[in-house]
Amino acid sequence: MIYLDHNATSPTRPGVAEAMLATLTRQEGNPSSVHGPGRAARQTLDEARRAVARLVNVHDSRVIFTSGGTEANHLAILGVAEQAAFQGTLITSAVEHPSVRMPCDKAEQRGMTVIRLPVDASGRIDPDQLETALTPDTRLVSIMAANNETGVLQPVTEIGALCRAAGVPFHCDATQYAGKLPLQADAIPADLLTLSAHKLGGPKGCGALIVGAAVQLTPQLLGGGQERNRRSGTENLSGIAGFGAVAQLVAPRIEAESLVLTALRQKLEEGLLKSVPDAVILGAQAPRLPNTTALALPGVDGETLVMTLDLAGFAISSGAACSSGKNTPSHVPLAMGLDHALTRSVTRISLGWDSTEHAVDRFIHAFHRSVDRLRKGSHFA
Ligand code: PMP
Repeated sequence: MIYLDHNATSPTRPGVAEAMLATLTRQEGNPSSVHGPGRAARQTLDEARRAVARLVNVHDSRVIFTSGGTEANHLAILGVAEQAAFQGTLITSAVEHPSVRMPCDKAEQRGMTVIRLPVDASGRIDPDQLETALTPDTRLVSIMAANNETGVLQPVTEIGALCRAAGVPFHCDATQYAGKLPLQADAIPADLLTLSAHKLGGPKGCGALIVGAAVQLTPQLLGGGQERNRRSGTENLSGIAGFGAVAQLVAPRIEAESLVLTALRQKLEEGLLKSVPDAVILGAQAPRLPNTTALALPGVDGETLVMTLDLAGFAISSGAACSSGKNTPSHVPLAMGLDHALTRSVTRISLGWDSTEHAVDRFIHAFHRSVDRLRKGSHFA
């Protein structure tokens, strides 16, 4: 199987499993305990926290470990909304992941006003529209760094500057961005930043919210007061150790990997467009993650193409992995102005650390054959 679905999850990188196993087999205690085994666990936790902090260039006291990107997004949005007693306005975009969209919907149901900024045909919001929408009533802006379906990057520098000028906290879901593009100091000037370990080759079910010093958050999980009282619950030590290991591994490689992926993706896109000339790459003109290609293919059902390619030994995705299976067209291409029929044709290829030129060549060939067959009306001809 050739795996080209790194935005759904990136296979665990070498060395990560070993770091996780060590925490499970070393008989470490509870990081909150004062005895020796507890202190050993605390040390593992602290080391991982430092590694994640280094990945995003923040002080380690800013890192709140969570059960993944979904929980971090909930803590950021509902934590700020609850601080504001669900009054005032929340600004987000029309292309956010459901784990941002749905807490925003919830805040709206509880009484907040939610403004969902539209995107243009390339999938980007217009900072001028954000500037107009920001008022003294705004409590939070939540806009993603990179879209999971298209890889399109939002103008986070401008967004951050506008929020800072308005004195409004900026939450940025960087789940797809982190590990794929460098996060030098202030690359994303956010007050709240969401990360997820499994998107960079770490374990699933582990993530973090990076919380700025000035941000007031109401905790969403109450109990033992772990994570500086912001997220109670005994820490997922093996997951966190895996997150730390992958953060340490990835941080010095991001720049080089992103260059390799850019070249590989260019080869992929040139090959695909040569063999299927009427394919449309979503957000082709916009700045994008180096690894992601979302394609609309007139007259082809995306879900069927994914299944056909699966049988041929290739793993790609149609729309967002999280919403596939539901068979509702994704909100992202719709927000970019595609019609329903074209939206249903969208497939996503996302490369990663284990992708090779050979795999890309084989994929281009298989893609061409599969699209050809589907267009001729027979899957198994
Ligand atoms: N945000 C984005 C942009 C994502 O792509 C995902 C995962 N599909 C999430 C949040 C949720 O992350 P997790 O799977 O760690 O809950």
